[in-house]
Amino acid sequence: MSQKHQPDVLVIGAGIAGLTAALTAAEHASVLVLAKDSLDSSNSYAAQGGVAAAIGPDDDPALHAADTIAAGRGLCRPSAVAALVEEAPARIADLRRLGVAFDEGLGREGGHSRNRIVHAGGADTGRRIAEVLVARVREHPRIRVAEGTRALALAVADGRCTGAVTTAGTVAARGTILATGGYAALWSRTTNPNGAVGDGLLLAHRAGAALADLELVQFHPTALVDDGFLLSEALRGAGATLLDADGRRFVDELAPRDVVARAIAARSEARLDLRSVERERYPTLMATLERAGYDPADEPIPVSPAAHYTIGGVVTDLDGRSSLPGLYAAGECACTGVHGANRLASNSLLECLVFGRRAALAALAEPEPVGKASVADELVEPVTPVLRQALWRDAGLIRGAAGLERLLAAPHPLVRLIAKGALARTESRGVHFREDFPAESDALAGHLVLRGDAEPELERWS
Ligand SMILES: Cc1cc2nc3c(=O)[nH]c(=O)nc-3n(C[C@H](O)[C@H](O)[C@H](O)COP(=O)(O)OP(=O)(O)OC[C@H]3O[C@@H](n4cnc5c(N)ncnc54)[C@H](O)[C@@H]3O)c2cc1C
Repeated sequence: MSQKHQPDVLVIGAGIAGLTAALTAAEHASVLVLAKDSLDSSNSYAAQGGVAAAIGPDDDPALHAADTIAAGRGLCRPSAVAALVEEAPARIADLRRLGVAFDEGLGREGGHSRNRIVHAGGADTGRRIAEVLVARVREHPRIRVAEGTRALALAVADGRCTGAVTTAGTVAARGTILATGGYAALWSRTTNPNGAVGDGLLLAHRAGAALADLELVQFHPTALVDDGFLLSEALRGAGATLLDADGRRFVDELAPRDVVARAIAARSEARLDLRSVERERYPTLMATLERAGYDPADEPIPVSPAAHYTIGGVVTDLDGRSSLPGLYAAGECACTGVHGANRLASNSLLECLVFGRRAALAALAEPEPVGKASVADELVEPVTPVLRQALWRDAGLIRGAAGLERLLAAPHPLVRLIAKGALARTESRGVHFREDFPAESDALAGHLVLRGDAEPELERWS
């Protein structure tokens, strides 16, 4: 990339949200997509289970909405849920048109009352979708991709975001879309690739945009004990069972993830029994287990929870607009309120498709950047093993005031913000479990919004 670049729309991040936004915006405008690592190093490539959409003969978007809202424990924003579930069938049709070949039939996952999960290549869904989107992006005459280029700070002129400073120079754009993914790799046990450390949230915060719900982090119950490799919920949907040290089942395997994760954490060990599953349906997953030294046909696999999906993010409206004009966010880095306090399985790839498209359509209406931009502080803080272990210990699956207060002095600013949110949520709700406040509190049935250095403010979103 040259030193100075001026696309109409700048998309920061090349996961499924960023790629969707880029293809949508490029129907009418020039687009530059940045990815700080290689294109295949994103959560999107790692996604196994699938995409939820009410397309089965016995299904309806209203049922999908009801399941999403039930999982969200009183915090889902109803308007965002409606957009998500109503647009889902059309977004799946878009993917088919672009060339994604989905498997026959629909899968079932925890919390879904119908079979509504579309898969590709068994447990290879994210990669299959991302590869098709990358191919369409690369052949598009109005899209440029800068791989290995990291956004370091956002530029702001006259109260509007006008682009970004990157490791390869400055970019001025009419609309800037953050699609930088989540921050679950800040925890030492994680299912996420290393780069998922919340860059987009810090970029937005430093430029003055609001963040919310940073304390809401989903821990996946069944990650391989050795390295956090995910053993998808789809396996439990296909009949895999969880066994304790005595070989007995101890939980409804399709209960919400937070329930299953805490049931596992309460035991000295847990194993996922895949022997009754049609293993040939999951070739990539089985091959990975075999490479790790396990024989899934012969022995149950040792699993324990790991940080997996971050619900918190940059506050946006239903068109991806952040509180800073000209700045948009979509996908896991955004907080639309759609997931409430507990994300329903396979709703996050869907979120990337629905809100990535919406953000791009809205960003096209932004005016040309004018005025002299000031640049926020650049991202320089390292994510060290010590920091990641501290987060795992003090803001893990089960949290308490003493540990969270320790994190307020952490060297990484996003970790301090997470601790601030988790301390303010003096209740247990969905994925957030406080040992010192084990019950839900009606007074906290809202989103905790962080602006600058102020204390979190509770907001209710309709
Ligand atoms: C193992 C695993 C399995 C999953 N399975 C499923 C599933 O079956 N179904 C489902 O719905 N969800 C699943 N999820 C969640 C889902 O994959 C993610 O929520 C989703 O892919 C996020 O997509 P995204 O586009 O928002 O971000 P990502 O795919 O994470 O992409 C982020 C992009 O931003 C770039 N980036 C970050 N910071 C910067 C910066 N400063 N400058 C430039 N570029 C930057 C990265 O390089 C990357 O290209 C799974 C997640 C994991 C980890």
